[in-house]
Amino acid sequence: MSGNETRLQAINEVTNRTDVPTGPTPEPLSEIWACDVFNLATMEDALSKNAFKAMKKTVQTGAPLDPSTADIVAAAMKDWALGKGVKFFSHIFYPMTNITAEKHDGFIVTNADGDAITEFTGSLLIKGEPDGSSFPNGSLRMTAAARGYTAWDPTSPVFVMRTPNGGATLMIPSVFMSWTGEALDKKIPLLRSNAAMDKAGQKVLALMGETDIAPLNSSCGAEQEYFLVDAHFANSRPDLLLAGRTLFGAPSPKGQEFDDHYFGAIPERVQVFMQAFEDKLFRLGIPAKTHHNEVAPGQFELAPYFEAANVAADHQQLMMTIMKTTALEHGFVCLLHEKPFAGINGSGKHVNWSVGNSTQGNLLDPGSTPHENLNFLLFCGAVIRGVHLYGPLLRAVIASAANDHRLGANEAPPAILSVYLGDQLEAVFNDIKNGNVSVSSDGGVMDLGLAQILPFTRDPGDRNRTSPFAFTGNRFEFRAVGSSQSVSGPLVAMNTILADSLEWIAEKLEAELSNGKERPAAVATVLQALMKEHGDVVFGGNGYSEEWHKAAVEERGLRNLPTTADALPVLKEQSIIDLFKRTGVLSPVELESRYEVYAEQYILSIGVEAKLVVELAKTIIYPATMSYVSSLAATVNSASYLGVELKPAGIKKIAEETNAMIATVTQLEEALANHNFESSQAHMKYCAGPLRSLMDKVRVHADALETEVADEYWPLPKYREMLFIK
Ligand code: ADP
Ligand code: MG
Repeated sequence: MSGNETRLQAINEVTNRTDVPTGPTPEPLSEIWACDVFNLATMEDALSKNAFKAMKKTVQTGAPLDPSTADIVAAAMKDWALGKGVKFFSHIFYPMTNITAEKHDGFIVTNADGDAITEFTGSLLIKGEPDGSSFPNGSLRMTAAARGYTAWDPTSPVFVMRTPNGGATLMIPSVFMSWTGEALDKKIPLLRSNAAMDKAGQKVLALMGETDIAPLNSSCGAEQEYFLVDAHFANSRPDLLLAGRTLFGAPSPKGQEFDDHYFGAIPERVQVFMQAFEDKLFRLGIPAKTHHNEVAPGQFELAPYFEAANVAADHQQLMMTIMKTTALEHGFVCLLHEKPFAGINGSGKHVNWSVGNSTQGNLLDPGSTPHENLNFLLFCGAVIRGVHLYGPLLRAVIASAANDHRLGANEAPPAILSVYLGDQLEAVFNDIKNGNVSVSSDGGVMDLGLAQILPFTRDPGDRNRTSPFAFTGNRFEFRAVGSSQSVSGPLVAMNTILADSLEWIAEKLEAELSNGKERPAAVATVLQALMKEHGDVVFGGNGYSEEWHKAAVEERGLRNLPTTADALPVLKEQSIIDLFKRTGVLSPVELESRYEVYAEQYILSIGVEAKLVVELAKTIIYPATMSYVSSLAATVNSASYLGVELKPAGIKKIAEETNAMIATVTQLEEALANHNFESSQAHMKYCAGPLRSLMDKVRVHADALETEVADEYWPLPKYREMLFIK
């Protein structure tokens, strides 16, 4: 079948679709909620009282579990899983790339008589050993020393993953480390960052006079944006299948300009898909809560209810996997890429984050009593300081080839990291900075005289969609994260910079208190110093505007890191190495390895795209154009034979664009042949600069051809076909 026939057949399949969308009948929540999860409720029935008590303590506080309890838990877990038809188990882990990895092992062993028995001990549960030498490790291991371990993370629940035929596998959330104990994954740093934040947070709370302080945990609720494209179309687009985005495609005459998609009625076919995949999430105890149409046609959002950051991060990975597989069952391809289509909005993942514990509650909630406000002000101030000092780190952890298309464009937060507090809170912090707050401590009530922050306890006031990092009432929302990214990187960065700032605050606070100051006065002094030093990062205006980009850099000294090639090297800066070392989150070699892995991912992604551009332009677009030209020429010849002079429409433009496209493709091929770079940073810059600009140039010519060549000759499904779901 020639290229254009594939497209025409896809159009035919889609436009002639008459079947009513079907899918599994949605099931009552009471019957399916967490039914495939070995959670505390299941364990309470399955374990002895003592074993359950020990597990509960581990789950809720991260306390270590002794090996004999692990044996008991493993046995109960196996029985529970076998009862669900499970034959295999797998440690599931999260390598430094954004993927989810698993290696399945059977419960089965045979004895001397050839009988099959099942076996699962505490040690099998606790430790797995995938070779894993093919995962990028950024020189942390030589291939010859490939040993890597996965180890059970008891704080994230074990669950059963099903395939559509009813097959089931027991999944054990795990960390992944090298034989020498270095973190090779995204979970270990997350757990460490949480511990660092907990330690520093407890110090501050103790100084604030709290006596009963439960362990602090960070929480995360991530809003996931995605596109759905009919599989018939996606399957005729090698760029969508291999690169996750369209490398070619003229704009659709109708895009998102009418704002008629955002929050519009969700197409029935999409609702059926959503119901099917949400039921799968519910079975796994993942609290899918909100779904709606997003801004671009074909774009949607799913937001789960927030959970403890570690569990939320695991659930996020699962969600992305399940969205993709369920979409295929419904005739869609789910695109998690940050910018699948040029000219319309891309997809992000807003990471909502806060920290708190069971005794003091959410420490980023202004609360309803002045006493709690002091804690709130300190934690909020700590975030402000962290973003000011380490904004470039926040930019670095969301850097990817795909996210570069969004950041800085006028649809997504800018690549300059600033903090939006909202009018009222900004005023409060300005007052603190200017020493305008009245400090009183009469009658033992600690009061900073900040009555004005009470009214917005539950009402964050206005929103600022142009801010990359916004306070939204009781949490911060990191809005620059990309849709395909793991939330771990951003969570690690936020927890770590908070830990660092809380340590700084604890030190200053302790000094003020030991000088005999009352707590409110001490807090005011510390926060005033903090705001004087770091207040410049607070910005409530339009983050998209030219003026801000100029002022942020020139007047406020904030850094603008437009591409991944600019942002990733931040991970090699001494202040960042020190930050991670000091907080115990990543050793210098672990950090270095991350830089290497992310840089390699960036270089590889752009390399794949550039090779695809060359191949598609030469072998799909060029031949289609030539067929059209030849048919035009034949028609003109025949007409002339009949004595009629035809002026072939657009032929001159087509010839010019085709020649220019092929000439640029040749340049791109030559550029791709260059492998001589003195560092990965130089290589990244080359990708961000010359390679990308040549790819863009090829596209300009190809897209111009798309609007000239007769529709029936065009081989690739068009934007106007793919974007509107039927
Ligand atoms: P928006 O109006 O910003 O689109 P959504 O309702 O779509 O908001 O999503 C907000 C997300 O923030 C949800 O996942 C929600 O559970 C989460 N969230 C709410 N409170 C907190 C909190 N304290 N910490 C972390 N996430 C939170
Ligand atoms: Mg939302």
